[in-house]
Amino acid sequence: MQLLDGKQVSETIKAELAVEVSRLTAEGKRAPHLVAVLVGDNPASEVYVNNKIQSCHQVGFRSTLIKRDAAISQAELLDIVQQLNHDPEVDGFIVQLPLPKHINEEKITLAIDPKKDVDGFHPVNFGRMAQGMPAFLPATPFGILEILRRYHIPTAGKHCVVVGRSNIVGTPMSILLSRKGWDCTVTLTHSRTQQLAEEVRRADIVVAAIGIPEFIKGDWVKEGAVVIDVGINRIVDSSRKSGFRLVGDVDFTAVAPKCSYITPVPGGVGAMTVTALMMNTLKAAVKEIYP
Ligand code: NAD
Repeated sequence: MQLLDGKQVSETIKAELAVEVSRLTAEGKRAPHLVAVLVGDNPASEVYVNNKIQSCHQVGFRSTLIKRDAAISQAELLDIVQQLNHDPEVDGFIVQLPLPKHINEEKITLAIDPKKDVDGFHPVNFGRMAQGMPAFLPATPFGILEILRRYHIPTAGKHCVVVGRSNIVGTPMSILLSRKGWDCTVTLTHSRTQQLAEEVRRADIVVAAIGIPEFIKGDWVKEGAVVIDVGINRIVDSSRKSGFRLVGDVDFTAVAPKCSYITPVPGGVGAMTVTALMMNTLKAAVKEIYP
């Protein structure tokens, strides 16, 4: 069994991005600029946004944080989105989800200019992705593809079972792995799937994105399978100072010995997600997706 070290891959990519930024600035161009909009005081969102800003600094991108009170109206937030859409100094921006209940997330996502939608959540980018056209890919699936690519994991003709059908992980992952170039035969499973364990047992590659701690058990996984664990779950652990520890959606202790490759939690997929956002921001700055 080999660990797929997302942290290591992420550091390698960040170093490559930093070189790209130096090249751009040497040509007299400005550094890529990412803006993050954070509404309210959700502690998890604050952590995610701070990581994004910190990663920008690491690779030499410019970053701006726009922080607004949870009481902001939908119209005010839409105004911010429009300003960012039209600001030539901004290459890409994200509106951190979830948003307060009185704001319609779909309306906000739809208002973002697809050319600046570095989260890849706009239906234009999703549709382009589904048709195999250049698109900003959602960060988590994009990060997973980079891990597979950089570890030279064969995918063509392999049977991939994706567990979970969210719009940001499971569904785009299933589409991407079935596209030309990746060429998997994909089964997308979810909470209404019958005999889930048997479906997973048939997989050469398992992608687990469910949100239930250690859900995928040892006897669900075929010998030699590649297991990608997207889950990030906090469980109580009184032996830790924090009182909790992070576990994935896969029962790592039982599953790892059977795998050819597996991503750890933490240090696997999670470590790649922010880096994938940085990759999208560079693509936005050099107009790679929308020339
Ligand atoms: P989600 O809650 O939007 O979707 C969960 C999916 O799991 C649903 O499609 C549902 O059908 C499926 N599901 C739920 N119960 C099931 C069951 N009993 N059997 C089979 N399928 C079931 O979640 P999400 O946003 O896709 O996130 C999934 C996990 O990945 C969470 O732990 C989340 O924290 C984590 N996550 C990690 C990253 C990262 O950067 N590593 C990014 C996004 C999400």
